[in-house]
Amino acid sequence: EVRLADGIDHQVAMVMDLNKCIGCQTCTIACKTNWTDGGGREYMYWNNVETKPGSGYPRDWEEMGGGWDEEGEERTPGELQDREDYGRPWDFNHEQVMYEGSDEPLRPMDQAGWGPNFDEDEGAGEYPNSYYFYLPRICNHCTHPSCVEACPRSALYKREEDGIVLVDQDRCRGYRYCVEGCPYRKVYYNAMKKTSEKCIFCYPRIEGEGPDGEVHAPSCAEDCPPQLRLVGYLDDEEGPIHKLVNEYEVAVRLHPEYRTEPNVYYIPPFAPPQHSESGESLNAERIPRDYLEELFGPDVNEALNTIDRERSRVERGEESEVMELLTTTDTEDQYRLEVF
Ligand code: SF4
Repeated sequence: EVRLADGIDHQVAMVMDLNKCIGCQTCTIACKTNWTDGGGREYMYWNNVETKPGSGYPRDWEEMGGGWDEEGEERTPGELQDREDYGRPWDFNHEQVMYEGSDEPLRPMDQAGWGPNFDEDEGAGEYPNSYYFYLPRICNHCTHPSCVEACPRSALYKREEDGIVLVDQDRCRGYRYCVEGCPYRKVYYNAMKKTSEKCIFCYPRIEGEGPDGEVHAPSCAEDCPPQLRLVGYLDDEEGPIHKLVNEYEVAVRLHPEYRTEPNVYYIPPFAPPQHSESGESLNAERIPRDYLEELFGPDVNEALNTIDRERSRVERGEESEVMELLTTTDTEDQYRLEVF
């Protein structure tokens, strides 16, 4: 059953298949060049792709609090990250290497501290069974958004027509309660404008103001080379998102225990089984289930079991709607934005 927030007609949603992400950051750059290349936005990544296991962006965002308590009624306290958690750009020895004839390799000049993707591809586990996967993240346009509730000026709101969460720039006074209230740390403070800013789900594009004056999916989705994102409405019962999330339950939420009810869902990652140093298969999962449960909650187990079962059906030559939905290359199925 689909639960929409009170007063919302429809809810936009996205499903990201983590098995397809190659960590190329095309989505990050598509978003950045569209929306956050201006002053005061240097560290803003409305879309980022982090390596898991890893600290993410901003650093250790999962330990900063925010969201709702067990009853989903009281907001849990969140802390405000500081500038160092986002990292600072550092200089390279370009001048010496390129113009002064130095034989040194190109390298950072100062002690590099932290930044987006600083721990990229580090991963975890022991050789030869180490593992990592990429986790693309945007604002989840939550059904029960703690950022909205945190704002004493009601500057943040969910759009009635599609549940997109926006910041009214005229009402915002830059108090940053939303920044510390979002457990996913997906609201950013623009110190030049002195207001908070966040992912807008490319609403002008879905309203028909795409580059050719037509309806387009958000640019993070459309520009993704492996096309891992499905975009549509959670309450479109004929659409792939509704089927994957509600019917087959193979798409799960990131950190459901924050209780904001995200509307971005993930197909959890599979990895090849572990093997011995001599190459013998060990019949043990490479990505520990308890780590996946930590990220996606207990529902990840049934999601993985269902996908495994459906894959076996395809291997036996049987039909599987789940696998068809997950492998579709038809853009009309990938992006269903004109149904209401
Ligand atoms: Fe608000 Fe964070 Fe949810 Fe986005 S992800 S709606 S910013 S609580």
